[in-house]
Amino acid sequence: GEMTVGELAKLLHKDASEVIKKLLFLGVMATINQEVDLETIQLIADEFKVEVDLKLPVSEDPFEETEEKDEEADLQERPAVVTIMGHVDHGKTTLLDAIRKTNVTSAEAGGITQHIGAYQVEYNNKKVTFLDTPGHEAFTLMRSRGAQVTDITIIVVAADDGVMPQTVEAISHAKAANCPIIVAVNKVDKPEANPDRVKQELTEYELVPEEWGGDTIFVNVSAKQGMGLDELLEMILLVSEVNEYKANPDKRARGTVIEAELDKGRGPVVRILVQHGTLKVGDAFVAGTCFGRVRAMVNDRGRRLKEAGPSTPVEITGLTDVPQAGDPFMAFEDERKARSIAEKRATTYRQSQLGANTRVTLDDLFKHIKEGEMKELNVIIKGDVQGSVEALRGSLQKIDVEGVRVKILHSGVGAITESDIILATASNAIVVGFNVRPDAQAKATADEEKVDIRLHRVIYTIVEEIEQAMKGMLDPEY
Ligand code: GDP
Repeated sequence: GEMTVGELAKLLHKDASEVIKKLLFLGVMATINQEVDLETIQLIADEFKVEVDLKLPVSEDPFEETEEKDEEADLQERPAVVTIMGHVDHGKTTLLDAIRKTNVTSAEAGGITQHIGAYQVEYNNKKVTFLDTPGHEAFTLMRSRGAQVTDITIIVVAADDGVMPQTVEAISHAKAANCPIIVAVNKVDKPEANPDRVKQELTEYELVPEEWGGDTIFVNVSAKQGMGLDELLEMILLVSEVNEYKANPDKRARGTVIEAELDKGRGPVVRILVQHGTLKVGDAFVAGTCFGRVRAMVNDRGRRLKEAGPSTPVEITGLTDVPQAGDPFMAFEDERKARSIAEKRATTYRQSQLGANTRVTLDDLFKHIKEGEMKELNVIIKGDVQGSVEALRGSLQKIDVEGVRVKILHSGVGAITESDIILATASNAIVVGFNVRPDAQAKATADEEKVDIRLHRVIYTIVEEIEQAMKGMLDPEY
């Protein structure tokens, strides 16, 4: 059983007697302490026309069940996967292009650049994979779908402009993902460039350079002139070495869909990052809820590959349908197996869609705390002026409820945006607005993803609301 009748009643904001009546109606005699299974919970919720959060346990994802487990000895070094983030116009795209142009892997010299969502370069005989959709939205959108593909984030800050709102967002998104950060201070070729000011500004976000006693790596670059790229790559390799990114290349492939589209001539085309194992032409596979067989596989230089190991981005054809970016991907021993796994995942997916995921809301916070599932309440703060945002930060961080603490993932001035909602989705956070509201897009996404947004005009009431929710005293909102 998943929960008792009493707990279910509470979850549905109904009286236990009402739930027992419905159960009786369905032919089940039950008492308040009786346990009910997922299916019954769903039926009862349907009866009350209430959407419930039913996430199947991870163990029921057929991918988890079927993955071959690794022994430590099977693991081999693999290239790091890097994402570039930062404020608009600070040079993300230029930097991606510059790195790509100057550090072609030796085997691929002369090939023609293909956009497949990611590319690989070689430096000092080591490979590095770059995702080439810059920006933190894409990064966190993937994460909100359960895909953690990035090992290292590069935060680009233009030395003539300094830290800007999206720089701060990017830092928050990288930190929320526990992703190591390297700061690339860009446009140092410009006469008005002031890299030291960038360093100074970033100390406020706990990114402190080594020479000032911190442990954040800073590299001065000019993406436009190709300056500092070697050092940047060296630093990426250094961070990779420290973190020892590894994978087992000798098993069925598993990875993530980076992009997918329907091509008029070739049918469904899917661009994936292989993360574990080795994918081979002819392999049967499942991506999301679609299945197929690898017909052709090309890399970012348009070269046909027979196989692709960990951290390799490839474009493949041979699917029967188009999956979504962020969908997991797995190879299977034969097509029949792939088909049945795809069908199983489709069912699971439909079920989990019924209530999206188990998003935290203030209303059920106490339940999660009580069950020991939560030690931290993740919060995103948006406010009308910097002063009130800071005041709210300070007050929320001071809340002292035994066993739980407030963790502020991101705070900033301005309306609640879709980027805030995506971060909340990926990190299971609530969003607090102080004298600001969500914009239309943010509102729509929040409704869809069931993100809890709390809007207030008085700091005290926010603090009180959150504190009471943490203590389990909040009356549920109907
Ligand atoms: P993104 O929005 O972060 O992807 O920024 P872009 O890569 O599109 O760059 C924005 C503008 O800054 C473009 O006009 C680039 O040519 C320019 N830019 C990028 N890097 C540099 C640089 O290192 N030096 C100078 N002077 N300009 C740069």
